[in-house]
Amino acid sequence: MRYPGVIESYKEYLPVTDKTPIISLNEGNTPLIELRTIPRKLGIDLKIYIKHEGLNPTASFKDRGMTVAISKAVEEGSKAVMCASTGNTSASAAAYAARAGLKAIVIIPKNAIALGKLVQALIHNAMVFALKGNFDDALEIVQKITSEYPVTLVNSINPYRLEGQKTAAFEICDSLGSAPDYHCIPVGNAGNITSYWMGYTQYYEKKKINKKPRMMGFQAKGAAPIVHDRVIKDPQTVATAIKIGNPARWKDAVKALKESGGYINIVSDEEILNTYTLLAREEGIFVEPASATSLAGLIKYYPEGIFEKGKTVVCTCTGHGLKDPDMAIKSSKTPIVVKKIDEILKIIDF
Ligand SMILES: *Cc1c(COP(=O)(O)O)cnc(C)c1O
Repeated sequence: MRYPGVIESYKEYLPVTDKTPIISLNEGNTPLIELRTIPRKLGIDLKIYIKHEGLNPTASFKDRGMTVAISKAVEEGSKAVMCASTGNTSASAAAYAARAGLKAIVIIPKNAIALGKLVQALIHNAMVFALKGNFDDALEIVQKITSEYPVTLVNSINPYRLEGQKTAAFEICDSLGSAPDYHCIPVGNAGNITSYWMGYTQYYEKKKINKKPRMMGFQAKGAAPIVHDRVIKDPQTVATAIKIGNPARWKDAVKALKESGGYINIVSDEEILNTYTLLAREEGIFVEPASATSLAGLIKYYPEGIFEKGKTVVCTCTGHGLKDPDMAIKSSKTPIVVKKIDEILKIIDF
């Protein structure tokens, strides 16, 4: 059977009707991959699954929310959409707007988004503004413009984004046959942690699952406003997708953490990058740096007894590693330049 995308798959849980024109790139249905090597090597007694959201059409989870936000924008007669972005929202907005025949306008912080993401917004023909400022500045401008002019905001302040993103929680429950005990997730603007909690709660209320997971959020050390409970004026981290100092869904994230008996803490850039290379080398899973934050948090805090042994954990990996080729090159060995077979054989040394 042909997989139809998240709206068709979970229609009864989404704010769509028969009249909603469905704009989809068949997003969702991403793999849930069990880790084989890392838990054994690090002595972690947990069943750990990676929800690989980098395998969505534009290579991040943003597509789940964008299909709903863009479909509703078209239904409401909008002609243009706009977002601020650390990269992936603009890539997704540009692609779905292209699919729908809408104009996309995006504002990104200048020199602060990964190359692959910039390329996506450009090739899908969005109008791209590089702002001399950070993500939080960009979002402020977008909120101002979209509140005064006829253009639809598609950041995760848009409630349809969260509605679409919650389908990842549904997929996890459907494939495990229950909810996991813990759900680890990177936290930037905090839309995704909010979405997952909505999804788990909704499935619980519909009696599709009989327990809900504890939500375990992780922020980069230099961009951890929720952990420190204060706005970070000049957030810093190599994980550009979560380089946010004043999350739009701050309150909702705190609510999700509280209601789920959850946990939130920091991981350093070094810990994020170590996990990023570990996933690639030991498991064959290539994600972008921000995405490794969820597993990095698990690895860091497991020894403190935060996780009960023997339980099941899902770690969301939010975006694909190819998004950020510069970081991958910086984190790897360089190719060995050779001219002759002898040189190759000498170096391989069978
Ligand atoms: C958007 C994004 C995040 C952060 O998600 P929020 O909903 O803003 O918390 C994390 N990782 C990647 C790759 C992203 O694109």
